[in-house]
Amino acid sequence: MSIVRTVKQNPEGLIAKAYSFAEKVHAGQKRRTGEPYFNHVLATAEIVMSWNLDEPTVAAALLHDVLEDGGISPENLQLNFGKEVFDLVDGVTKIGHVKYRGAEAKADNLRELILAISGDLRVVLIKLADRLHNMRTLSALPRDKQKRIALETDEIYAPLAYRLGMHRLTSELQDLAFPYIQPEEHRSLAKIITSAVVAENNRYLEKVRHLLGKLLADSHIQPIQMEYRVKALGSLYKKMQHYGYTLEQVYDFLAMRVIVSNVAECYAALGVIHAAWTPVPGRIKDFIAAPKPNGYRSLQTTVIGPDNKILEIQVRTSEMHEENEYGIAAHFLYKSRDRSSESLDKAEAKRAETELHWVQQLKDWRERISNSDSDSEEILEAMKIDFFRDRIFVTTPKGEVLDLPAGSTPIDFAYRIHSDLGNSTASARVNGKQISLDHELHSGDLVEIITQKGKKPSEDWLNFARTAVARDHIRSALRKKKTGSLSIIRAIRTEFKITAKDRIGLIKDITSVIAKAKINILNTITSNSFDPKSHVLRLVCELPSHPMAETLVSKIRQVKGVQEVSYKHE
Ligand code: MN
Repeated sequence: MSIVRTVKQNPEGLIAKAYSFAEKVHAGQKRRTGEPYFNHVLATAEIVMSWNLDEPTVAAALLHDVLEDGGISPENLQLNFGKEVFDLVDGVTKIGHVKYRGAEAKADNLRELILAISGDLRVVLIKLADRLHNMRTLSALPRDKQKRIALETDEIYAPLAYRLGMHRLTSELQDLAFPYIQPEEHRSLAKIITSAVVAENNRYLEKVRHLLGKLLADSHIQPIQMEYRVKALGSLYKKMQHYGYTLEQVYDFLAMRVIVSNVAECYAALGVIHAAWTPVPGRIKDFIAAPKPNGYRSLQTTVIGPDNKILEIQVRTSEMHEENEYGIAAHFLYKSRDRSSESLDKAEAKRAETELHWVQQLKDWRERISNSDSDSEEILEAMKIDFFRDRIFVTTPKGEVLDLPAGSTPIDFAYRIHSDLGNSTASARVNGKQISLDHELHSGDLVEIITQKGKKPSEDWLNFARTAVARDHIRSALRKKKTGSLSIIRAIRTEFKITAKDRIGLIKDITSVIAKAKINILNTITSNSFDPKSHVLRLVCELPSHPMAETLVSKIRQVKGVQEVSYKHE
């Protein structure tokens, strides 16, 4: 159902009223894309509606910019739409005031953000829909704004969507942000994963879907839905970086999803899959018996599929699927659906049973904060809940609060404030004590950066800088330093040909030897040799020097099953 159809069907309804109100308020306003501003609020409301949220939320999505960008007074809005809709719009507007640029993120702004979240989750959902549409149209903005919004999306909104269990939204936000945050990495990855590569893999997956559909039918399982995807560049890069994986080690680059009618069929389908294709040991996961903390449920396995390609297969029921994809929003969906079919008692019991753990945590936290006076120590303490588990909060000498990923160092801190500060960092003090620059920061630390004029970043900072922002700046400063000198390293493209006895984990073992030597793999090609038990693998790598090839050959020879290794420089 679309907004326009809803408006036509029920012209006296709340959504229709919000539609015409917003249309009038934003009349004549244009976005940077040149489109009418109203298109943005309409698109936001469409997203909210696609998550099956209730009427007041859809109406509030249509109205979400009337206070900030439409010049409507709060009194006017509340008079026209009542308290519920007003509170939603007001909440979204307040979250919009929190510019999450580290140095500007004060503790009380953060608190306001979280209070809004725990006060009414629908506020966050509207904000996420708003952000999603802004990210989809980000190319129209000036460069510096693109980067700031993309960073904020990647560091705040995508993790937030993840905590809400909204997996589809999480990866879409990350993938949209990736080219703006790391344009170089995006370009080089896009050179390897070209659209031709994606198309070829999609054809492969279509073939597997057909094949698996037949195998399941033979076992009297009729899947409700079977879908597949090639991992998008943003999430692919995140995974490679987070685990230090090479492309070859990302086992879910190709993924298939099978949706069946009930739990028994999930396990039966898994059996059919394993009978057809060899599972990779240690990769079978039962998130039905033991769901993830954010509520995710599914069976997962990695198999060596047709043509010896590795792919991940997920099996789940449609109910699990909706919860996994739409997370917290799926609960609203069940609520409204169950109301008409099942009895209310049953629907409520079901909801209570599946309600996500962290929702309760946020509610507890909100109570704790409102019962205490708002000193910042208390707030920092309170932030250590699960929601911020992988982030730390540190303060500048002026008392500003910065949030950083866990494991950050004074270098990350300095670059977070300003690239000039990062570039001229000489030493640092934490809580008044001199520490080394690779020192790991903890929540509540007060960090001081001591600068020195003319100081330049050192290459070994890359070994411990944790944030993308710091690493980007260090690299570009190093490049500037090197320009003009003769020390520019040119990579030598080299192809290794490896013949080996086929076994599970072979490719992974070989690629990890290469990855350990910090060598970049550009391409891997596997093919069968004349002997059906052995395997030919070609790897194209970038070597820093010619002698490195010999070193690698001797290392690869030590991998179990390897029979022959040769190489040629391209
Ligand atoms: Mn907006």
